[in-house]
Amino acid sequence: MGYESRAQAIYRITNRQSFPAGPPSRLEELWGKDVFSLSKMKQCLPKAVFKSLKKTIQTGQQLDASVADIVASAMKDWAIAKGASYYAHVFYPMTNATAEKHDAFVSIQGDGTAISEFAGKLLVQGEPDGSSFPNGGIRSTFEARGYTAWDVTSPAYLMETDNGVTLCIPTVFVSWTGEALDKKTPLLRSISAMNRSATRVLKLLGHTDIAPVNSSCGPEQEYFLVDSYFANSRPDLLLAGRTLFGKPPAKGQQFDDHYFGAIPERVQVFMQDVEQKMYRLGIPAKTRHNEVAPGQFEIAPIFEAANVASDHQQLTMTLLRQTAKKHGFVCLLHEKPFAGINGSGKHVNWSVSNTTQGNLLDPGDSPHENAQFLVFCAAVIRGVHKYGPLMRAVIANASNDHRLGANEAPPAIMSVYLGSQLETLFNQIASGSMNDTYGKRGEMRIGVDTLPPLSKDAGDRNRTSPFAFTGNRFEFRAVGSSQSVSGPLIVLNTMLADSLDFVGDLLESELGKGVELNAAIFAVLKEIMHKHGAVIFGGDGYSAEWHKMAVEERGLANLPTTADALPCLTEKYIEELFEKTGVLSPVELESRYEVYSEQYILSIEVEAKLAIDMVKTSIYPAAMRHLAEMGNTVAGLKDMGIDLDRDNIKKVAELTNSMMSKVSKLSTALAKEDFASTEEHMKYCASTIRPMMDDLREDADALEGEVSDDLWPLPTYQEMLFIK
Ligand code: ADP
Ligand code: MG
Repeated sequence: MGYESRAQAIYRITNRQSFPAGPPSRLEELWGKDVFSLSKMKQCLPKAVFKSLKKTIQTGQQLDASVADIVASAMKDWAIAKGASYYAHVFYPMTNATAEKHDAFVSIQGDGTAISEFAGKLLVQGEPDGSSFPNGGIRSTFEARGYTAWDVTSPAYLMETDNGVTLCIPTVFVSWTGEALDKKTPLLRSISAMNRSATRVLKLLGHTDIAPVNSSCGPEQEYFLVDSYFANSRPDLLLAGRTLFGKPPAKGQQFDDHYFGAIPERVQVFMQDVEQKMYRLGIPAKTRHNEVAPGQFEIAPIFEAANVASDHQQLTMTLLRQTAKKHGFVCLLHEKPFAGINGSGKHVNWSVSNTTQGNLLDPGDSPHENAQFLVFCAAVIRGVHKYGPLMRAVIANASNDHRLGANEAPPAIMSVYLGSQLETLFNQIASGSMNDTYGKRGEMRIGVDTLPPLSKDAGDRNRTSPFAFTGNRFEFRAVGSSQSVSGPLIVLNTMLADSLDFVGDLLESELGKGVELNAAIFAVLKEIMHKHGAVIFGGDGYSAEWHKMAVEERGLANLPTTADALPCLTEKYIEELFEKTGVLSPVELESRYEVYSEQYILSIEVEAKLAIDMVKTSIYPAAMRHLAEMGNTVAGLKDMGIDLDRDNIKKVAELTNSMMSKVSKLSTALAKEDFASTEEHMKYCASTIRPMMDDLREDADALEGEVSDDLWPLPTYQEMLFIK
């Protein structure tokens, strides 16, 4: 890109017309239009069939084959009436992606004619070629079959693109031997595990009417928008999703003038378009605003049941990307697209509830509910302490490593923020001193009188905590913007299930000894605080003191990179956790470790190769052109007896030399192949390749500050961040 075209591009982009979005439709007209929802099924299914299906949805029982046929036929008629000619089993492989296999509703008859058909067996089970999805060695290629099966708890919907309308059916994806190859299967299993354990504890707390307990999730998605012209002229944004080079602009986010600022018009039109599409799909988009960095935005829906929320989150990411394209933007979901500028996260708001007891993490105001809240909250605290490394591992990937540990994002040390009131309360429980303050007849009563009114004020917040209690839910803030929320939800549900089993065992044993219920609960809470209270931290999570204190005094793990975090998946206690809760078998867990570490290594190697290419084919030539132009002038003037300042030429020459020698060192380092283990290979990427790339970048970015701007081949940070 020479001077002329770059300047023209900027002119063109500045004068881009907003994509005509048209007037917004009324929510009531759009809502759930493209979803084969329960209410639509009720309308078109025979009563008995609908009842059976509803039961399957509510209890998770297998769908009866005769019912499947009728549902499939009704679903097909509905979809065809809305213009669909294809159906797709949608599944969520172990990458963060969404995968689809499309099939036509076509069936050839004996006489050679074709009819549109969709039998129950096609609804209930599909068979995509599983071999092209990562499986961590579970299947060898000759038995590459993978099966998809309809997840009845998540409704089918229509996706409209320029190529027509497709009926999409959310499915689980398993191997021919039944092992999970996806993120949905273990999520569903983790919900059942949590339900079993929560029900047991609720019974012990004296409840008799207990509806199934489910987890809820409200994910906040941060993203960047960059004009597609700029993004497409940056090989690094295209292939790696982040800039591998780029000098920080003179103005970054220091002015704090972007957060909650006015949303640029072109972006507003884009957002409205995305939201209308979300409404059609029944996704309750609610909040939109600018984020801290220039060019950064956020969208959050109203929370939903974890499984549906997770499917909807995947759809939201797809819609953001697709719709951005139409509006002349590229939507970057990478955790750190721009060095030195705030990265993007995905806060996973999580709670557990049922229809009979309500939100189990709501402090509430009746004594009974408070005891219940304290027990569930303590169970979460225990989980984070015991399985902190697992929480870190499940959000570990090459891109999120740029955020975690940096002083802008929740640190790589897992801790719990409770807010000052709750923290005080739990500390009192630990010391047992509540007896004197609140107890009657010298005994602890866990009731409203012991629980100070909790402020739900958003002001009482700690943005530096990776995992914070926010009024009636926990907010897992360390999750990365590009990641599926399923992984974090699986871990949260599973560790809660484990903790609730621990609570159940202890409560049963106390009650068995004849201890009164309130005293037994208090004993459990105290025990948890003694063993696991060290994970509670209300201070500044970014500070150096915390990093030191967390590790040295509290024994918490600080796992700054994926290479440090992922090996936790191979540890015995993690294997036991997943096996005893029935969420992942040892083989399934091992395959996940293999897949995630492979992905980590691959993405770093791809980035390193790309960095080398970019230096050789665009940055080096720009520097050489600069030298040639300036050098000739200086030499010419010197002939005339005029001595010009040569600092710039000298500096560019030195930086170029240094940069090229780093390129060749990086190439050599990349060629290394003999690694004793995957773990060693990951460590090599983290501690050798990555630092070498950073070092190379230093020279390239310094050159950007010296080389004549009209010769610089890559769109700059200020162009990408500020021109909309
Ligand atoms: P903030 O940015 O202040 O943290 P937002 O309003 O942007 O809050 O997002 C909060 C998210 O938490 C929303 O998706 C919201 O629906 C969700 N949420 C609220 N209550 C719960 C709950 N009990 N369980 C799970 N998610 C919840
Ligand atoms: Mg928010």
